[in-house]
Amino acid sequence: MSTEYERLKQLDHRYIWHPFTQQKHWTECEQPLIVDRAEGFELIDVDGKSYLDGVSSLWCNVHGHTEPELMAALSDQAGKLCHSTLLGLTHRPVIELSEKLISLVPKGLSKIFYADAGTTAVEAGLRIALEWWQKQGGTASKQKKKLLSLGGAYHGDTVGSVTVGFLPAFHGSIEPILVPALRTPPPHMFRFYDGLSEADALTASIEQLDQLLQKEADSIAAFFMEPLVQGAAGIWVQPPEFMKAARELCRKHDVLFLADEVATGFGKTGTLFAVEQGQISPDIMIVGKGLSAGYLPISAAIATQELYDGFLGGVEEGKTFFYGQTFAGNPLAARVASANLELIEKRDVVGGLAARIETMTSALREKIEPLGCVDEVRQCGLMVGIELTKRPGERCPFLPEELAGWRVIYEARKRGVVIRPLGNVIILMPAVTMPLNDIERLVDVTADSLKAVLEN
Ligand code: PMP
Repeated sequence: MSTEYERLKQLDHRYIWHPFTQQKHWTECEQPLIVDRAEGFELIDVDGKSYLDGVSSLWCNVHGHTEPELMAALSDQAGKLCHSTLLGLTHRPVIELSEKLISLVPKGLSKIFYADAGTTAVEAGLRIALEWWQKQGGTASKQKKKLLSLGGAYHGDTVGSVTVGFLPAFHGSIEPILVPALRTPPPHMFRFYDGLSEADALTASIEQLDQLLQKEADSIAAFFMEPLVQGAAGIWVQPPEFMKAARELCRKHDVLFLADEVATGFGKTGTLFAVEQGQISPDIMIVGKGLSAGYLPISAAIATQELYDGFLGGVEEGKTFFYGQTFAGNPLAARVASANLELIEKRDVVGGLAARIETMTSALREKIEPLGCVDEVRQCGLMVGIELTKRPGERCPFLPEELAGWRVIYEARKRGVVIRPLGNVIILMPAVTMPLNDIERLVDVTADSLKAVLEN
């Protein structure tokens, strides 16, 4: 390691508190990868070593890093306007982005509320849903004050988002200020934990949701779900029939349906949006991450006209939606997001997904599934979770203190690939335009690293 590396590492240790990171482990055990720049699908560290970006920089990169067309849009915009506000003003990049975005999302979604991160857009969606019922008037709608979400759900880290993604291990200590949402188990839980077949797990989860709604719908404002894949739970995959049934049940029971596409949006599941595979249109769809191709923070809660109309009134009526961030819909981010959407169409990114997914599927089948340390491989499009086991042929997860996932990803790093564990699961999530040979390399290195660390 160079002296420059050591200097930066010391400064990092002195000043930075990293998200979702045990700082004792970070400062005492980790050789941090210090990224200096990137080219295409490679991250390059301060000593000039390249690493394949196997998790698309936390699931957001779409066209590779430093894509010339995106950089051109960004630098042109930087010369015109870097920031202005959407509070009481508007600007060209966000207007142009909005026209394009509405042409791509499911029919029925027509009003875009911008924010600056996945979690702040989720929070906007949650507040719109809760407030909409309260602003309806009438005693029945005023009773709708609860939220419903899936077991294992993750929707971000603000306090509101945590109510729908409450995990006792993470959030137990702030429970006194939270009102955790009602929860219903997704098909994965019935299949993985109760051993039901895929078909029976689907039926069981739909029945459970139906029963809960029959009992509680009068008090429920909205149901939140990550369609097709619960990413942060560890790539818990559902058949598209689940969102379809959930959408119908919500309509029947007069509960708003919110689809959180922060992780699944912009191609990751094989279609531009996961909801397309269930042929549904939600009342609110949340997007983030890939909206700007993973270049700058921007997100949105996209709502129906009906929800939007519920907030209209005289300024004295108290119907205004009092919510927003300083950098919501930032011009630089909006401009790069427009260029991203144009490139997605121009390069037919969605049309190129099938070959990439097929390459991923066959590489996983051949290289990862046969390994003794692999309990199961879950895949939806280019979202992959490799569940580990200590004992071949049995379901026996590693304990957190064994750091199995971390040891595997350090090994992969030595071999020039960046991946990330989520508990007992190794996540692979390449950018949706990654070349086929790089997808193969990602799987090869993951397989070699698993073998080197867990099968010796
Ligand atoms: N919703 C989902 C489904 C996510 O996966 C994430 C982030 N991984 C979020 C919300 C929160 O997004 P952000 O980190 O941009 O706040």
